[in-house]
Amino acid sequence: MERGIKRPREEADGVLREKQGCDADFRRWDVAETVFYLRREGLEQWEQMFREHGITGPGLPFLTEAHLEKMGVFPLGSRLQILHCLQKLWQVSNESMKVLNDPIHGHIELHPLLLRFVDTPQFQRLRHIKQLGGTYLVFPGASHNRFEHSVGVGYLAGCLVQALNERQPELLITKQDVLCVQIAGLCHDLGHGPFSHMFDGMFIPKVRPGEKWKHEMASVQMFDHLVRVNGLEEVMERHGLTLPVDLVFIKEQIAGPLDNSILNSSWPYKGRPMEKSFLYEIVANKRNGIDVDKWDYFARDCYHLGIQNNFDYQRFLKFARVCEVRGKKHICTRDKVHFAVVILTLGDMPKKIIIFWLNCKIRYTCGYFLVFCLDKKKIYLI
Ligand SMILES: [Zn+2]
Repeated sequence: MERGIKRPREEADGVLREKQGCDADFRRWDVAETVFYLRREGLEQWEQMFREHGITGPGLPFLTEAHLEKMGVFPLGSRLQILHCLQKLWQVSNESMKVLNDPIHGHIELHPLLLRFVDTPQFQRLRHIKQLGGTYLVFPGASHNRFEHSVGVGYLAGCLVQALNERQPELLITKQDVLCVQIAGLCHDLGHGPFSHMFDGMFIPKVRPGEKWKHEMASVQMFDHLVRVNGLEEVMERHGLTLPVDLVFIKEQIAGPLDNSILNSSWPYKGRPMEKSFLYEIVANKRNGIDVDKWDYFARDCYHLGIQNNFDYQRFLKFARVCEVRGKKHICTRDKVHFAVVILTLGDMPKKIIIFWLNCKIRYTCGYFLVFCLDKKKIYLI
């Protein structure tokens, strides 16, 4: 790059620095930079209060109206004015979001932290892994790859957790929770081998008979590798994540509980407490299998195969809410919605059978359906 030519991002940072007289990233502000920003926004009367409480940039996203009241900011109008002014800071950081146009979900905004995961060789590798194995030999349109599916799952994970947050603020979903759920969605299939399920279903058993290889565990290993070799720990901390607990949370969402010694305890997860059990049902739902991974591949695989998808995740998003069932918080939806969106009616199939559409078997042979019977908890092939 020639000297003197600024990339757009550098230029934006430069303008911001000049405008604010402080670091472009508010998360790095000390007390002096924080009060400078208040002054610039015409809120100098609260400058001293921020100074006395030693408020710095990293703490700003966590400031609530109650905090400001405790600090002695009266009246209510002033507290709201401060919060509104602080919110502009996150909008500034939104400027570095990237937008992808996806054939299934339309325009997808990627948070800068998520972009750091996508822009790694380990994630880009997914561009070359066929989502449906060799199915494209029979369905020529189905030559899509794990990359776009992973981006789609990250996007939907964000949609679901945000919808719950907006509908039920009492769940106390934090920005860190949202980012961790989105990262888990993005990275859940990192461990897939060439031709996806054909690799673990046919290749591994042939070359390594008896080996218990699962792509979920491989995803966790690849995730650890990706974070380490790309120096992402520091980037995650800069975006407000707490390590190592948030790394554990992300991996648990992909592969389930990591610590076998506490598998039988009432709460086998370590990344989040039981009060947030519902967060573990977004990317890979071990309870009922209804998760955003399926939402994406139902829609995406059908689109590329050229067959109809009856699953409407938009409707599910509208009705999903967290309810407490036997002491644990689960993602639930109204009975009839559940019935309408999950059951794919197929000719004269018995009503109580839920068909989790041919995701597994179509990868090897076309025409099989994986059928899950609710009553007997058995799986049938038809
Ligand atoms: Zn997946």
